[in-house]
Amino acid sequence: MSKDKLVVVGGDAAGMSGASKAKRENPDLEVIVFEKKDIVSFGLCGVPYYVSGVVKNLEDLIAITPEQFREKRNIDVRTEHEVLNIDPENKQIVFQKQQKGETTANYDKLLIATGARAKKPSIYKESLKNVFTLRWLTDGEKVRNFIEKKAPEHVVVTSGYIGLEMAEAFREHGLEVTVLAKYDNLLPMVDQEIADIIEEELREHDVELRKDRVVTDFKYKNEGTISEVITNKESIETDLVLLSIGAKPAVELAKDAGINLGSTGAITVDERMQTNLKDIYAAGDCVECAHLVSEEKAFLPLGDIANRQGRVAGTNIGGGEGRFPGVLGTAITKIFDLGIARTGITEKEAKELDFDYITSTITQGTRAFYYPGGKRLTIKVIVERGNGRLLGVQLAGKGEVSLRINAFASLVSSGTPVQEIQYLDLAYAPPYSPAWDPIQTAAKVAASKL
Ligand code: FAD
Repeated sequence: MSKDKLVVVGGDAAGMSGASKAKRENPDLEVIVFEKKDIVSFGLCGVPYYVSGVVKNLEDLIAITPEQFREKRNIDVRTEHEVLNIDPENKQIVFQKQQKGETTANYDKLLIATGARAKKPSIYKESLKNVFTLRWLTDGEKVRNFIEKKAPEHVVVTSGYIGLEMAEAFREHGLEVTVLAKYDNLLPMVDQEIADIIEEELREHDVELRKDRVVTDFKYKNEGTISEVITNKESIETDLVLLSIGAKPAVELAKDAGINLGSTGAITVDERMQTNLKDIYAAGDCVECAHLVSEEKAFLPLGDIANRQGRVAGTNIGGGEGRFPGVLGTAITKIFDLGIARTGITEKEAKELDFDYITSTITQGTRAFYYPGGKRLTIKVIVERGNGRLLGVQLAGKGEVSLRINAFASLVSSGTPVQEIQYLDLAYAPPYSPAWDPIQTAAKVAASKL
């Protein structure tokens, strides 16, 4: 009897998690991964740190090689194989090896994990020599090579969490940095009070910020090299530009096969990560997620979500029972010495969604006042009026922010009201927190406003 065959399209976070989990769940399954690039399982999130030099070599960002997948997990990884077409009726894909010829392969189950790609403004052209976007390891390599070989003195970066991480990377190389923000709030994933703290951090690191700016054109020094960025307000001379204006889901393959897309433009899946077509699953940046607070669909291209969704898809494909519960939009980023994190919804989102809410913002030290090394931490909470449910939390601080945002994410997820959070039995010792942890203080202040 021939083995059941899983074909995975896309060999990064979602695809390789799905492939690995399906194989573990059902070792008899034949698993083939088609990846159009020459690598799989790469850490895109590490690209800003490769550009800064914290990560020395590009290869350091590759978690597992195709050979290791073959030898250790018995997964047939085919790099430089691009899937061109899916024929759901005949359970077949059409693919091309190294951009030559066309061949077909059959599947019993298919996992689409085609990810996302960088949004590019219409003025951008691939042929530009000193204007870059950032989505793949090779993009990071091009930027670092440009810095090392051309020694630019000034860079224009668009705002957004990746742009701000890159601003830090460019300062590490001694470049003068101008950040262009499209809105008055330079990082709309957080509210203005938190964005103000980021602005202060940029000033401290001599980064120039210009708000309400949109890049409209370039002025050229010669063909392929720009000398000025033209915005809606002014022209800025520069010798390097990084356009990081977001990502869009790579869904053409799915759409052409008759797979439903949702309101966000990404693929619609159910809790099992199954699409509307039988035996076709999808996971990662190409799908939209159910947001557990807003109860709306969201496009949240984040690596941790892609890994979890891939695992759920793999569990179901392998014959197990997996459910993806949805997301809270939890995210964290480091901007110079500042950690910025969020979970749930922002105040702006709460307003747009018509929630009846209160907010409160506190700033407190992260250790007992007499113990050295404590850092100030600002916490903004958005709380539903009446029942005290946490709708969202944002943090900004120079100390450890990830542990507290993760605690808050659990509390948003469980629906624990602030009236209970203020008396939660959290750990205390002077080197780690004050007697009232900032989590309890934030809840206490919010509870008093309800
Ligand atoms: P992708 O990583 O996009 O992989 C999709 C794969 O499918 C690609 O390898 C592509 O070549 C392949 N493919 C597409 N179409 C085909 C086809 N037709 N045939 C064959 N192969 C195909 N997330 C976080 O959570 N935290 C962070 O700090 C963070 N930092 C980031 C920093 C940067 C600079 C970038 C670019 C992203 C960052 N992300 C971060 C986002 C994170 O990298 C993505 O969410 C994650 O890579 C998504 O994984 P994926 O497998 O869904 O898609």
